[in-house]
Formats: sequence, C-alpha cells, structure tokens
Amino acid sequence: MPMDVNATTPSNFIRAIIDQDLAEGKHKGIVTRFPPEPNGYLHIGHAKSICLNFGLAKDYGGRCHLRFDDTNPEKEDVEYIESIMEDVRWLGFDWGEHLYFASDYFEQLYEFAVELIKQGKAYVCELSADEIREYRGTLTEPGKDSPYRNRSVEENLELFERMKNGEFEEGSHVLRAKIDMSSPNVVMRDPVIYRIKKVPHHRTGDKWCIYPMYDFTHCLSDAIEGITHSICTLEFENNRPLYEWILEQVFPKPHPQQIEFARLNLSCTMMSKRKLLQLVQQGIVSGWDDPRMPTLAGLRRRGFTPAAIRDFCERIGVAKANSVVDYSLLEHCLREDLNNTAPRTMAVLRPLKVVIENYPEGQIEYLEAVNNPNDPAAGTRLVPFAREIYIERDDFMLDPPKGFFRLAPGREVRLRFAYFIKCTDVVYGADGSVVELRAVYDPETKGGSAPDGRKVKATLHWVAAEHSLPAEVRLYDQLFTKEDPNEGDFMENLNPNSLEVVQDARVELNMREVRPGDKFQFERLGYFCVDLDSTPDRLVFNRTVSLKDSWAKMQKK
Ligand code: ATP
Ligand code: MG
Repeated sequence: MPMDVNATTPSNFIRAIIDQDLAEGKHKGIVTRFPPEPNGYLHIGHAKSICLNFGLAKDYGGRCHLRFDDTNPEKEDVEYIESIMEDVRWLGFDWGEHLYFASDYFEQLYEFAVELIKQGKAYVCELSADEIREYRGTLTEPGKDSPYRNRSVEENLELFERMKNGEFEEGSHVLRAKIDMSSPNVVMRDPVIYRIKKVPHHRTGDKWCIYPMYDFTHCLSDAIEGITHSICTLEFENNRPLYEWILEQVFPKPHPQQIEFARLNLSCTMMSKRKLLQLVQQGIVSGWDDPRMPTLAGLRRRGFTPAAIRDFCERIGVAKANSVVDYSLLEHCLREDLNNTAPRTMAVLRPLKVVIENYPEGQIEYLEAVNNPNDPAAGTRLVPFAREIYIERDDFMLDPPKGFFRLAPGREVRLRFAYFIKCTDVVYGADGSVVELRAVYDPETKGGSAPDGRKVKATLHWVAAEHSLPAEVRLYDQLFTKEDPNEGDFMENLNPNSLEVVQDARVELNMREVRPGDKFQFERLGYFCVDLDSTPDRLVFNRTVSLKDSWAKMQKK
C-alpha cells in the first residue's frame, strides 16, 4: 500500500502514481497545474479539478500553477480570465507567483514547430478541413497520405514562415505533425498542430495570425513549466500518445506524465461551457452568476460556501470510470457546513397577520433568541414582540386534517422564543379568504413552557408586524427537469418553475445591517443568503438550500 503524505486524505490511483514516482526518484517534488480555457466561467466540475490539482500540490509540498490555455482567441475574453482567478481564490487556493498563459509561449511553440519541420516530422498541408477529415479514415479504416506530406524540409520551412507572415488565407494551409496515417489511434493520423486565424488575441494583439492547436500547446506548456503530473479528464486518453510523441521529438527529459481521471457529472446539471453560454446569451438565466447556474459564481451567489464545495470534492473522490453524482450530495455537504456556521433568524415568507387581543397596545418586548444552537459563541439576540405579529400562512388551517398540529381555530401553539398563543377568531376578506387571525397569549408561558405543564404540539416562527422588515425572497429549484439535461435537447428540458419570487416576505428587524453574501438559517424554512441585488432599502434573499429536517418535526418528540 503506498503511503500518503497526508494521512487524513483518502488515497486514490493518482496518489499511488505520485508516491511511486517519488519513491523511484523520477521527480524530487511535484508540480501540477489547473489549465482552464478562458472561454466561460468555471463550474462545479472545474472545482473537482482545482481541488485535485491544488490539493495534491499542497499535500505533497509541491506547487500548482494556474495556466490559461488561451489558444482560441475568438472565444476567449478577459472577463473570463478575471472571473476564473476570482473563483479559484474564492475556493481557497493560491497559485502564488505561478500564473501563466499559454500565449506567453507562442514564440517558443513556434520554434518547437520549426524544430519538428527540420526533423522532417511536420509539414504544411493545403487540403481543406473537409478533405483532411476525409483523408483521415475511420476507426475501422486507415487514413491516406496527404499529397503534401512529402514536401521537403526547406519548402515546409518557407511555407510555415509565410503562414506566420499572414500571406495565406484562413483555412488554406495548416501545419501537421507527420506521424502515421494508418495508426489505429485516429489522433495520431497526422494531427493539425497550427492553423491560420486572422483574429487578434486578447493578450498578444495582432502579433500572430497562426495559433497552435490544443494538443501541441498543452504538452509543451506543461514541459516548459516543469509540470510533473498533468492531470486531465478521460476524454483525453486517446490524446496521450500524441502528448508523449510531441515531447519525445523536441523536449529533453524528464517529461510530464499525463494522467486521466473521470470528470464530474451531477444529476440535473449540465456543465458544458458552450451550453451554459447559450443559457446566458438567450436570457434563460440572468447571467453566469445566476444562482441556478452550476458555475462557481452562481453557487457563490446562491450561498454555497467554499468549504462545502471542497468537502464535496473530497467525498466524491477520484476514479477512472465515469459516473453521475447525485445533486443531493452537494446539498448535504452544504447543509453540514451551514448548520455549523449560519446564524438563525426568523422570517415569514407568506405573512398572515395575527392580532393578540390581550397584549397591550403599543407595548414592545425584546425576547432573547439563540443565534446558533451548534455554536454557543454565536450568542443570542433580542427579537421584538408586539400585539400584531405575522406567522406563515401555511401554519394555519381553518379545518385541519388529522396530523396537522399547527394553528387552527381554538387551538394553542408555541411561538418560538415567545409565548403560547391560542387562535380565538378568524377575519375573512370580501372574497372569503382568511386575512387575519385573532388570538390571545398566555403571559405565564414566556420562554416557551407553561407552568401548569400543559403541552402544545407545534412551535411556529413569527415576526412582529411593525417591527420587522419587508424583503424579497427568491426561491430556486433545479434548472432542468431531467436527471440528464442532455437527454434530447437541453433547451426542452428547462424547468419552467426554477425561480419563484416572493415579493412581500418579512424578516427580523435585526436584518437591517446585512450585506450581500451574508448567510442565515431562516428557522424552519432553510438556509438563505443576501443577494447581490440587496440594498438597505430593499432586502433581497436567495434560498440557498432547504432544511432537511425542520426542528418543528424534531420538537414533536
Ligand atoms: P467544457 O467542456 O465545459 O468547455 P473544458 O474541459 O473544455 O470544459 P477547460 O477550461 O478546458 O474546460 O477545463 C479546465 C480543466 O478543468 C481541465 O483540466 C478539465 O479537464 C477540467 N474539467 C473540466 N470539466 C470538468 C469536470 N466536469 N470534472 C472534472 N474536471 C473538469
Ligand atoms: Mg478544454
């Protein structure tokens, strides 16, 4: 059994490889990297890769680079670069001085390509994209050689330079590695390594009109930076021989080793950046940081914590086989964290007024409430109580069925941190709906128990009517109705009820000072956080996640 440097982290096959490499002296230490393409915001799948790469570097006393794989100028943007850096930091990782851009290597990569040509291992090809595809063959048939395959080194050098100088049109010429058109691995059939794109780059401006392909760029960037273990997702398994072939031709040893692991798939969640961009562009969501998005920006806005996401990434582990993780595991990790850290408060989403007729008019009383039963250090707060309060509409029924223990005409319940109240009368509106309740309270029950020992079966949350604040509360559900949103057309699988906006909720007066990002447990309702749109004049909350077990149930025992 290989020994782990950090005994608290469960082992996995990648750690086993690293342990062996270190034991054999192949490397003195480890260097990993996280290599996003800046063509979108990071999502929860990227978090798995970030936690893995930065986590390994930390555990083994090595380092992890953040490298932007920016070889596709058309789709890339500085907005994405900035958001990616923010998200990696937010997750709790630090690349120190090791921030790199593949575009910083364009000059070196060009020289490596020239070196390949000189060795007779690359050539300029004038087949069109369609012809190249046709010549490539299939999984069952070998490809056939391009008519340009046997150009002389001199001719190739000259043509490649002219490509660089902008003398040819896009698509008219490409540089290809000269490997083997009948290789059983299609990737090895003379892959394109450079193409012409007359598009300015967000970092190199219009210095270049030829750009290296991913397969050529990635292995060499890894090698240039001294990466020891280049960890990527399974789709790149077939590209590994090409990764190794390129380094073998032009780079001195030791080479970085590519290791593949299974990407994260989450039920009811889609992670393709292209499709997420479509949701943004078509206005299906409010932006990359819409709280329903699986992006880190969206999860953050929704109220997820970095600790919960790191915990989730640890629990799902690293494997070689693809699988789908249930979304509820992510929520479980979140609840575990928030349960310990989020202060409790009371909020009423759909208020129903209750007038306590025997409570003196104009009187206000401040009752002590516990901020977090799991954290004594969180202390207590004072909550105003008055003659008119709001309770949750759902907590009252005119004609309660068996098993409904909350408020009903003639019934007594406990108000959390306050008194027992008994419903004495119901006020109806013109349309026959219940608009207000009348009640009496028992002053002897302050703090929640009756001196005569009588019991009530329910405890309700509440806020004082005047001494509370209005708030908008946004309730979210899954963005997609299908386990696999990509089954069929993902646009057809959108959940029409993924957002419900509650306009006139009421929250405790204590919420006056909250700031975007603050997180709370609304007692009995779930975890909520203050949204970016929130202002002192207009409080806005997002429901982060519901409560699994409400204490109403627990208190029944
Ligand atoms: P997409 O297919 O959504 O565009 P990508 O893989 O092309 O994603 P990159 O920016 O290239 O996005 O990804 C950066 C790193 O994150 C890569 O090393 C990639 O393997 C890893 N990664 C991306 N998606 C996942 C995922 N779902 N699970 C684990 N790792 C992932
Ligand atoms: Mg990619």
